[in-house]
Amino acid sequence: MTATDPRPSHLFYVTRLRRPLVDRAEGIYLWTQDGRRFIDGSSGPVAVNLGYSNRHVLDAMKAQMEKTTFAYRLHFENDPAEDLARDIAGRMPNGLDRIFFVSGGSEAVESCVKLARQWAVATGQPGRWKVIGRMPSYHGGTLGALTVTHDGQLTGPFEAQMKAMPSIPAPTAYRDRDNLTMEQRGLKYADMLEEKILAEGPETVVAFIMEPIGGAATNALVAPDSYYPRIREICDRYGILLIHDEVMSGVARTGKFLGGDHWEGKPDIVSLSKGIGSGYMPLGAMCAPMRIVKPVLDMGGFAHGHTYAGNPLACAAGLTVLQEVDRLKLADNAAARGADLIAGLQSLADRFPFIGDVRGKGLMTAIEFVADKETMRNLPLEVNIGQRVLDLAYERGLIVYFRRVKGGVQGDCVMVAPPLIVTREEIGEIVSILGDAIA
Ligand code: PMP
Repeated sequence: MTATDPRPSHLFYVTRLRRPLVDRAEGIYLWTQDGRRFIDGSSGPVAVNLGYSNRHVLDAMKAQMEKTTFAYRLHFENDPAEDLARDIAGRMPNGLDRIFFVSGGSEAVESCVKLARQWAVATGQPGRWKVIGRMPSYHGGTLGALTVTHDGQLTGPFEAQMKAMPSIPAPTAYRDRDNLTMEQRGLKYADMLEEKILAEGPETVVAFIMEPIGGAATNALVAPDSYYPRIREICDRYGILLIHDEVMSGVARTGKFLGGDHWEGKPDIVSLSKGIGSGYMPLGAMCAPMRIVKPVLDMGGFAHGHTYAGNPLACAAGLTVLQEVDRLKLADNAAARGADLIAGLQSLADRFPFIGDVRGKGLMTAIEFVADKETMRNLPLEVNIGQRVLDLAYERGLIVYFRRVKGGVQGDCVMVAPPLIVTREEIGEIVSILGDAIA
């Protein structure tokens, strides 16, 4: 995409690509300065759950701005942070009612990892520090979050500076061509955690981190139902903390407040980010129970914190986002429109023989392209089909989500995850443009 702005740009981001300049955004749409309209079929990077320019959020932010935008938390607490923490605590399972604010998903994940490690020290188990993750997975781009991220493309250049943590395969049961039932496969993947814990030495492992519904690395991956309780059981057996990274799957995205709520998940620590800020402010949170937080505070405090954590402006935005999620019944809408979307994507799979899988929960969905549906053999890497579909959809004014994972065990996917305010008609439009791009 070439920029229409003739001025030299000093920006750089992930790729060399220069995208058009945005002018304004509203609902599920963005308009560029050259007058084009885009449907955001991916909520940015699956973040703008509420849609753009929600009046209530903007008004709450303006009102807070008139009071103060910032007060450092080591000097002052603030009402929006107190209110937002209380609100989030009320939505958490398993007694996770202590809320530690940060400014994004990577910070939230690092906070989880550091809290787990400091809890181990505080409870007299200093030898426990390894955090087992899944391959492939994405938990953030900062060096600490990267140690639990398993994606060769992202970790490759930094291996000298980080201590990569152990991993087990992501539960890509839908790809397996064995004689097991889905539920048996769920158990098989979960039991790999126990094998890994035993191989590493249980006395060295402090936590297991996973997304209840896989996002950036595994594209709306849902494990068989049997997986979730078995993972919890194994963590309990070895006294290992279960961290749910809900940065992408949280905040009503999948039809319930947390992705883990579909299985009545009982995590020990939860990370949240994208959906609570919903594009209005950078915001993230770590949620933990007093039984983990207390020993850490008792040993002199949590050795972690960020300047902008829990600032009143971000929290005022986050609080109103959650109020709007309730008022607009966005969890229900995500479930209902998600069913429409899956049906639409299934119709594309019926039409195109190289769509090998349609999956997801609520409005976190994906299609997977394969060379052969029977064997689930991947297309050659050079075909780069995910990127091509993304580009062709973009040319047609539709944004979808694609990230190539090096060293992954899956094929090429694009994710479709529009804002949770999307209507049935808009779902129809998204599916229609996507079908056109694929054709
Ligand atoms: N965890 C998960 C599950 C994510 O999807 C992401 C972002 N894609 C992150 C962590 C990192 O969040 P951020 O980009 O806000 O640092």
